[in-house]
Amino acid sequence: MFDALTDRFEGIFTRLRGKGRLSEGDVDEVLREIRLALLEADVSFTVVRGFVARVREATVGLELSGALNPAQQVIDIVHQELIATLGGETLRITYASKPPTVVLMAGLQGSGKTTASAKLARWFKGQGRNPLLVGADLQRPAAIEQLRTLGRQVDVPVVSRDDAIGGEGGDPVEVAENAIAEARRLGRDVVIVDTAGRLSIDQELMEQVRQIAQVTEPQYTFLVVDAMTGQDAVTTAENFHQALELDGVILTKLDGDARGGAALSVKEVVGRPIAFASNGEKVADFDLFHPDRLAGRILG
Ligand code: GDP
Repeated sequence: MFDALTDRFEGIFTRLRGKGRLSEGDVDEVLREIRLALLEADVSFTVVRGFVARVREATVGLELSGALNPAQQVIDIVHQELIATLGGETLRITYASKPPTVVLMAGLQGSGKTTASAKLARWFKGQGRNPLLVGADLQRPAAIEQLRTLGRQVDVPVVSRDDAIGGEGGDPVEVAENAIAEARRLGRDVVIVDTAGRLSIDQELMEQVRQIAQVTEPQYTFLVVDAMTGQDAVTTAENFHQALELDGVILTKLDGDARGGAALSVKEVVGRPIAFASNGEKVADFDLFHPDRLAGRILG
């Protein structure tokens, strides 16, 4: 994960540790190298600028030539800044006071949305909840079948248009609305709605998901984004957030050779944190996103 970035930091910090005393020039050089490393990792330019400025500010007060290890102090500052850039805190999920708690899943086709819906259902089960998966992605013919297969894997029921809740025309908004009543009937306290994937930001589908949000009143609206798409992932998230109030992002494919740009840019650019992360194809490769752990891994 983010191997190139980790290698760069390792190199920068090894040189820094080798210096003993630090001059202001040394700090400038480190900041220049960090700036380059982040840009190469495809981190958004504004995020990089802010990152470097904050690290610089924090180093100003340091006793660079003092007795305490100045290199380690700089490294600690960078570490803290990385955690903050990744969102700082791990999300604490809260549940609707009147069940079910609804979670809306949106995303581009291929982002891993359907898989993430099932993984999230499994995660909620692990929290002692009783989730229900709703197939409201009626755009892609195979999506419902895929969700049913995944539902069996994680042992969570799936409802969709070919069930009783389908209504007359199998309209996704109607399916989602009926699914809430169905969840109450079945005693399911979390409802995860897999909405239509799309190839690009599509106004018609955006309107559809907005209507689904209106009738289901989700506690959380998550956008699933593929970490491998770097800056594009962030642009997608910005556009979705403008059309649909997002609560967070689910970042997928962290097991691939993503450079880190998406993970390190989302929070600042979109203003919404990474809620969950997926790092593999298996249903268990999924958890809440922990900024501190990822920062630790990046710094090796
Ligand atoms: P959707 O079109 O957004 O619903 O995407 P899918 O859920 O069908 O996922 C697209 C592909 O990405 C599938 O082959 C998934 O197995 C794969 N995938 C999803 N999440 C991950 C992940 O975290 N890591 C890896 N390696 N593959 C993933």
